[in-house]
Amino acid sequence: MSSPAAEPANLMEAIVSLAKRRGFVFPSSEIYGGLNGFFDYGPLGVELKKNIRDCWWNDMVRRRDDIVGIETSIIMHPKVWEASGHVAGFSDPLVDCKVSKNRYRADQLFWAAVVVDGNTVGYVSALESEKTTEELQAAAEQLKRKKAIQGALAPVQPKDFTEAQPQEIAQIPSPATGNPDLTPPRAFNMMFQTNVGAMTDASSVAYLRPETAQGMFVDFKNVVDTGRVKLPFGIAQTGKSFRNEITPRNFIFRSREFEQMEMEFFIHEDDDWAKWHRYWIDWCTSWLKSIGLPDTHLSEYDHLKEKLAFYSKGTTDIMFKFPFGVQELWGIAARGNYDLGQHEKASGVPQAIFDEATKKKFVPHVIEPAVGLDRIFLAVLAAGYAEEQVTDDKGNTETRTVLRLSPRIAPVKVAVLPLLKNKEALTTRAKELYKKLQRRYAVFYDEAGAIGRRYRRQDEIGTPWCVTIDFDTIEKDGSFTLRERDSMQQKRITEAELFALLDEQVF
Ligand code: ATP
Repeated sequence: MSSPAAEPANLMEAIVSLAKRRGFVFPSSEIYGGLNGFFDYGPLGVELKKNIRDCWWNDMVRRRDDIVGIETSIIMHPKVWEASGHVAGFSDPLVDCKVSKNRYRADQLFWAAVVVDGNTVGYVSALESEKTTEELQAAAEQLKRKKAIQGALAPVQPKDFTEAQPQEIAQIPSPATGNPDLTPPRAFNMMFQTNVGAMTDASSVAYLRPETAQGMFVDFKNVVDTGRVKLPFGIAQTGKSFRNEITPRNFIFRSREFEQMEMEFFIHEDDDWAKWHRYWIDWCTSWLKSIGLPDTHLSEYDHLKEKLAFYSKGTTDIMFKFPFGVQELWGIAARGNYDLGQHEKASGVPQAIFDEATKKKFVPHVIEPAVGLDRIFLAVLAAGYAEEQVTDDKGNTETRTVLRLSPRIAPVKVAVLPLLKNKEALTTRAKELYKKLQRRYAVFYDEAGAIGRRYRRQDEIGTPWCVTIDFDTIEKDGSFTLRERDSMQQKRITEAELFALLDEQVF
């Protein structure tokens, strides 16, 4: 029996702890103290990540007739990043605290004037969070008390630091010191630089790619010329991207090395871009649901027209309710033909294709759904994690930690458990089934400890099913006990039924 799933008080802490304890995610180079913004995936993490990537690849590329895959190099010609605009513009506004040496992203650092009876009597600051406004209001009240000022305090009007004027910057307190120690924002380019070859001069400078998308644009002509594609069609790839983020945070949500899954969907210049944009928003949303993310955690955010790049026709983000707030998971951008056009100009190689119908040449337009694999990984952990109070047959109550992962992505699909360790007939049959399942699925064999404890170990890593080989299996009809993770229900099942269940649910 179980009570309704309860979210622990600090869900993020619980997830990070489980991820470490059970081998999903470790801090990178941990024995040297870790490296901020870098992570390693452990034995279960690498399976979960691979399963998410494989599901995306199968649904996005293999099961469609209009999308092909590629894999491009991480270091590309530096001119790619000049043409794409990244050398000049891929930057975040950086603010330094001169005293503490802390660094902040100006658009994540909020401040407000403290206004009493219409007069500004000081300034307060707070870092971006779910509670920024409340924190600023509380700080304003404290400042008014501290200065012993009488009168009516106006509600704070939070602004981010990019909106601060020089005279305000001179007075806004640093969150680290409480004194006005902040520098004006300056552009900080987020691309990691390296050098190619033996020389380390300006001519050898290259970059680790900050996105995978440019690979699709630069190889566009190669893909078209191989002759398999016809508009509208897409080119997809998954792979590592690198961004020297000013403030990596929230575990793997924002890191400096991460994996992206991106697709460029090319359409005719006269095609209805808004229709295709909507199509891809819906496709991405239903794909997220297909790997187990609940509808209740998903929403859409349309970027404001005035904040879009000049070439952009529209961008919609699929947002996810993370434990630290609603944040971007998947961006779907209608980019016109800016990218191919830029590469045509910079390389001198025409990117236009010939339209048989109109006998005209044109550079195709593109819709780009771009998502971070690590962010989806975090989202499935956040949505799946639960702690429940369960009561056993003897009336004992304990807390069960369970990861409700979809069978499509669970790192282990089935755990095979002989009821007793020291009964050879049971372990032999269990190992036989285990070996048979292993040819097609990631499975786990466990004979150590009480059966209840073994179930709990699987619950915690998200294994959807356990099968127990007991005396009925070997003495009667060969069926096993199938125990289902979420409901904890048990039923008898034959080997053929087990394979049929897996075939239906794991795809
Ligand atoms: P943000 O505003 O969060 O920095 P962005 O709008 O710059 O993200 P895009 O350039 O659109 O992000 O990248 C596409 C996707 O790649 C994002 O939706 C996100 O899922 C993922 N992503 C971007 N930056 C990071 C990062 N530093 N760590 C992990 N995933 C990231």
